Amino acid sequence: MHSLSLIIPVYNEAENIPLLQEKIAKTLAQLSYPYEIIYVDDGSQDQSFAVLTALAQNNAFIKVIQFTCNHGQTAAIAAGIDHATGDVIIFMDADLQNDPADIPMILNKLDEGYDLVSGWRANRQDAWLTRTLPSNMANWLISKVTGVRLHDYGCTLKAYRKEVLQGYRLYGEMHRFLPAYAAQVGARIAEIPVNHNPRRFGQSKYGLERIFKVILDLFTVKFLSKYGQKPIYLFGSIGAGFIVGSFLLLIYLLLDKFFYAQSLVTSPLLLMSAMFFIVGVQSIFFGLIGELLMRTYYESQDKPTYSIRTRFNITADKP
Ligand code: UDP
Ligand code: MG
Repeated sequence: MHSLSLIIPVYNEAENIPLLQEKIAKTLAQLSYPYEIIYVDDGSQDQSFAVLTALAQNNAFIKVIQFTCNHGQTAAIAAGIDHATGDVIIFMDADLQNDPADIPMILNKLDEGYDLVSGWRANRQDAWLTRTLPSNMANWLISKVTGVRLHDYGCTLKAYRKEVLQGYRLYGEMHRFLPAYAAQVGARIAEIPVNHNPRRFGQSKYGLERIFKVILDLFTVKFLSKYGQKPIYLFGSIGAGFIVGSFLLLIYLLLDKFFYAQSLVTSPLLLMSAMFFIVGVQSIFFGLIGELLMRTYYESQDKPTYSIRTRFNITADKP
């Protein structure tokens, strides 16, 4: 027995919502699980919020969160997680590119003993050159760097046991790295092929530039996972390495001078030794600054990454 929370980020999707809701309702009616559908209106300028509240008026299990402005898909997902009450949390796009009919299959997979089931758009319906190809390359890179192999980090359709989603502060493009985070706390992860449709109405909100953002975020993810607690360990060892190098060079120069009577001052190696020393010291100071930043980062944890204007059908006193 599960209780389900569907989280759906919405940015200018008014035309897509009615059919999406119909399809979700049809699928969930076949399951005997209690559920809630949390639509997060990410500052839409169209009629999305009106459409959502009209639906929510007649259905208490439809919940709506409205942001004060556009905070991005990741923040919308974060707000959904913060308000979810189910023990299985499912993310899905609002534009009908994901198929609600895949939900039972995903839950079956979860029941085989997984904590996270990730959709894989094996038959992706997006432009190949500008979307599918760069995304394949990004998936390869993310899998290499994080050590968690998935074909499709970017597929929104994913189901999580709620335990593996606790305690993350999501920003940038970070929601797509949740499987990598979950793996760090021992989550069992499965990936299954899901349907993918062309967008029904409206336009994609993203272009090629998102791939660069994803890759830059990947650096942060890797850095935080390895040195997040102690940046000084990384910068300190680099700095110490340079300082040792600087002294070795100096010793070599001194030996050269005393045994072979070479001039110390005219050697370019002396300059190099001095440079190594400076780089080394600077690197250690970078580490210290990193430590200070981390302290600020952890101490400011209660600041949410989004701001809410209205909640509909939600009573809990969440952020
Ligand atoms: N979205 C959002 N905020 C944004 C951009 C997108 O909530 O700033 C939502 C959007 O409404 C959709 C999902 O995120 O439900 C995926 O967006 P889109 O379909 O544009 O991305 P693509 O499928 O092209 O990767
Ligand atoms: Mg889409």
